Formats: sequence, C-alpha cells, structure tokens
Amino acid sequence: MEYSIGVDIGGTKVAIAIVDHHGVVVGQTVIPTDLSIKPEKMITIINETIAKLIKDNSITSEYVKGIGIGAPGPLNSKDGIISCPPNLSNWIDIPIVEQVQEYFSFPVILENDANAAALAEKWLGAAQENNNFAYVTISTGIGAGLFVDGKLLGGSRGNAGDIGHTVVDPSYGQCPCGQFGCLEFIASGTAIARRGSEIAGKQLSTKQVFDLYNQDHKEIKAYVEDVFRIIGVACVSLINTIDPEKIVIGGGVSKVGAPLFDAVRTYVSQYALNPGGRKTEIVPAVLDQNAGVIGAAALSFSG
Ligand SMILES: [Zn+2]
Repeated sequence: MEYSIGVDIGGTKVAIAIVDHHGVVVGQTVIPTDLSIKPEKMITIINETIAKLIKDNSITSEYVKGIGIGAPGPLNSKDGIISCPPNLSNWIDIPIVEQVQEYFSFPVILENDANAAALAEKWLGAAQENNNFAYVTISTGIGAGLFVDGKLLGGSRGNAGDIGHTVVDPSYGQCPCGQFGCLEFIASGTAIARRGSEIAGKQLSTKQVFDLYNQDHKEIKAYVEDVFRIIGVACVSLINTIDPEKIVIGGGVSKVGAPLFDAVRTYVSQYALNPGGRKTEIVPAVLDQNAGVIGAAALSFSG
C-alpha cells in the first residue's frame, strides 16, 4: 500500500492526514495555526507533527509517495513559495517546500488550496468522470480550481483560477484588493454577512442571513437572490472562458443548497454564450469535509 501525506494550511488551523492510494484517510491530526510565531517556527511544528503522525500510524517511509501541501494564495507553486496570503498575515515569501523538504526524504509539492480541492473532487468526488470542469469554493473568500483537457490549470506561478477578484459589478463598492465590484466582495460568506447585517440593521452571521432568507424576509430575500444571480454571472464567465462539462460548487455558502443551485442553473441556461455551455451541469461538491487534506494528498499521487 502506498500513502501520501496531505497538509492543508488555513488561517486558523493546519490539518494533516495520511491518505492511502484509494483516498482513505488512515490517520489525521489538526493543529492550530499560530500566527504569533515566525512562519519558519510554525513550519518546524508542522514537520514534527507530520513525522509523529507517520510514526504513530506505523507507516514505513519507503511507502510514502510524498507530501502535498495546500495553502491559500497568492503563492508560487512552481518555486514552492507562499507569497502573501491575506489570512496568513506574516507569511511573506516563505519557501515552505524547501523547509519541509529539508526534513523529509520524499518529494514535497505545494498547490493553492482551491486547486487541491479541485483535485480531490476529480479523484473521489463530483468530477470523477470529467476532464473539463471548474471547482468553485464560496466560503469566507471565493476561489476556483480549473481542470482543463484532463489537467489542473496552474498558470505561470500556480495562481490560475483566482476568480474571487474578477470584477462583476463596480457599483457594489471597493474590495480590499483595491478594485471595485469583485465577485468575492459581493458574494462571499463574508460579504453576505456584511451586507445582510446592513439591510437588517443588526449584526448577522452568514447563516443568520440565510435563515432570514428562508423565512422570506422581504429585503433579505431580494438581496440574497441578487447574490445568487451574481454567482450565476461568475459561472457564465467561467463557462465562456474554459468551456467545462461541469461546475462543482463547494464551501460554506453552497450549503444553502437548492435555491442557489436552481438560480445558477437558470442563469447559465439563459446566458452562457455557446448553446452547449447553457447545458453545463452545476452540482454541489461531495468532499467538503476532507477536501483540503485529500486534495493535498492527491498532489503526490497525480504528480
Ligand atoms: Zn478584489
């Protein structure tokens, strides 16, 4: 049996798993992301945690194919460097692959987290049959992994698919990135909580905004339907750009379910330019729970 180690680095926690070549998680652990210490120190803790996990599960290192690391962008996957992710505030130009590689004998690969999740959906989830699909994650931020002609689309530095900062409608105001009307500024979980709170006149979480939507709160309902339309606009742009067979939508916001998927399907069926594109399947992600670590582990198996 061959194994791969998947490491999913997030702003609050780092999930680490040993995954076998069938995609079964045979051991896993989660440690907090400590942003008060230097990234180099945090990576040392990650290395020690990986080594302990391998030892605790009695895995012989000759059966470990590699370590895959999924991390938030921007990054440079080709050079193995985490560049400047907004939710890892002091991680500026960190050569993580080099630092993990110094510790282990097997290959280490870095990929942005949305791309890793797309690989997980291809390997074990909603896109197993597809050679052309987009995976879109809508949670605190919005990102995408694009799988084109049987391959993950990386781009020159590994940042392809950063659709959260494509401009949809400048009238929505200025995104922290500086542009006006970015998709993420309008339709992320963070955006829905912010705008929903303004409309309701009190502080609401994303879930509470969706609760009001489900209770037919008039203004919230109109607002949320507009968000769904905007997500449809983004999907049409993706369809017109990469001509996928399927769009897989995951992340916390996608949990609202049928109203979102129905609205996006309706929009796509009317506005995708190519008649074939109007029939693009729009489906929920399957692997949300472990997509990060499984996708990161998949990097070693697919590489
Ligand atoms: Zn932006």
